[in-house]
Amino acid sequence: MVGASAAGLTTVEALRRKGYREPITVLGAEWHPPYDRPPLSKQFLCGDWDEARTRLRPDAMLSALDADFVLGDPAVALDAERRVVRTAADRALTADAVVIATGLTPRRLLGPELEGVHVLRTLDDAAALRKDLLVADRVVVVGDGVLGAEIAATARNLGRQVTLAGPQTFLLESQLGPVVGALLGELHRAEGVDLRLGTAVTGLTGLTGLTGLTGLTGVDGRVRGVQLADGEVLPADVVVVALGAAPATGWLEGSGLRLDNGVVCDAHCRAADGIYAAGDVARWQHDDSLVRLENRTNATEQALCVAANILGDEQPYRPIPYFWTDQFTVKLQVHGRPTADAEVTVAEGNIADGRFVAHYRRGDRLVAVLGWNMPKQTRLHREHLV
Ligand SMILES: Cc1cc2nc3c(=O)[nH]c(=O)nc-3n(C[C@H](O)[C@H](O)[C@H](O)COP(=O)(O)OP(=O)(O)OC[C@H]3O[C@@H](n4cnc5c(N)ncnc54)[C@H](O)[C@@H]3O)c2cc1C
Repeated sequence: MVGASAAGLTTVEALRRKGYREPITVLGAEWHPPYDRPPLSKQFLCGDWDEARTRLRPDAMLSALDADFVLGDPAVALDAERRVVRTAADRALTADAVVIATGLTPRRLLGPELEGVHVLRTLDDAAALRKDLLVADRVVVVGDGVLGAEIAATARNLGRQVTLAGPQTFLLESQLGPVVGALLGELHRAEGVDLRLGTAVTGLTGLTGLTGLTGLTGVDGRVRGVQLADGEVLPADVVVVALGAAPATGWLEGSGLRLDNGVVCDAHCRAADGIYAAGDVARWQHDDSLVRLENRTNATEQALCVAANILGDEQPYRPIPYFWTDQFTVKLQVHGRPTADAEVTVAEGNIADGRFVAHYRRGDRLVAVLGWNMPKQTRLHREHLV
């Protein structure tokens, strides 16, 4: 098992539950035992949860799995034909089955590193960001997707002055389209977030000049602002770059596997004989296209499918995607595959009351159901997607 997080751990648990008794090794790049990522931008970042609460399982449950957790030793190479995984500490592990569950690596802005500039993927990232947020006045979030919007909401809840900049016209536009994007924008503005949408960020400024895309660093090495394409500089003590993330497949170069925006797999999540991928890193054949999902539920569901397939209970992976996001007082839940160009209609509740279920249609096909503070009803509408 390469990757000791949601998908990796779930695969191990499912294998054991199904009676697999052979040795299992779990390799993790980080020193932390498996923890959950969704709270990192929410409960952990705002201080409601401590580190222990982000743990996926207590020690006793991990021990009961009778798996060898090798933490702090990332895999650095795979020989796919012989199924040998090599690690940074020079371990060479040969296996009957290898599962790749290495998740994503966040994108950063180009240029020299400045203090006060953060990304958010790991527990250590979250702890460092929280420390900075507690003493910052002005926070700029670069990125108008789910993660950027969540971080902006949490920073605002902590009482910071928050500006969010991104190139789309609406928040989360590419995921949820302009109708819901506009509502999210209203929510953020009403809560005091300064939204600078439709503007590309071109770099970061330090004390004496522009860095990032153009290359000068401030004298004390600390970020001072974010430069927009129209020339404006947004002052900042802390900058969070939330520009998406790329599949963590660098260690698989030369492995013989097909890498193309993830580990390319067949409909059974198999990348090669005895080699599987699960979670954010996996791109598998779904009907006539390759699909990769970045959400927590997929990590679990795909891992369950991989465990079944390893044990010969051949099943194609055909999920109805689901993700949620919490921003200020709103819990959004999205089932299916919304597209920015889908027609959106309110199917239950209403927008003015701040509680509704929306349907996303393309032609006469219902492609997604979105709930805005209406969890129970949203689950019922999901049935129409099956
Ligand atoms: C801040 C944040 C908030 C989120 N909020 C939500 C949310 O509200 N709702 C939602 O649906 N989804 C959310 N997500 C997405 C969700 O957390 C991911 O989809 C999920 O964690 C994917 O699980 P995974 O096991 O595939 O990958 P990951 O959780 O990324 O785990 C991959 C693991 O592999 C390790 N690794 C990487 N390279 C190597 C290597 N070479 N060798 C060994 N180990 C390696 C990494 O250290 C990591 O521990 C959020 C993600 C983040 C970062």
